Amino acid sequence: MMRIGIGELVLCSLAALLPLLGVALVVLLIRGTQKKTDFGVNLSVANACPKCGAALPAVRVPTALKQALWGGWTCQQCKAELDKWGRVRRQARIR
Ligand SMILES: [Zn+2]
Repeated sequence: MMRIGIGELVLCSLAALLPLLGVALVVLLIRGTQKKTDFGVNLSVANACPKCGAALPAVRVPTALKQALWGGWTCQQCKAELDKWGRVRRQARIR
């Protein structure tokens, strides 16, 4: 009779869970794109700031970790933070 160790049992369990994880990620991606959340994929590029109308740069340079992870811009003119969908995420603070 063949015996299996705990390591093989854990490995087989993880291998069985990988397809479920893949399906969950695809569902998250599709729903995120439909509902325009941070998990979604935006293939069209926003070209103007919705707040002041200034043109956004073609090459995006993230100014914060959130922008590096999820996409988005900081408007050069009014300093508004925009998400990857071109919506204002946060207004610039008035000092
Ligand atoms: Zn702006």
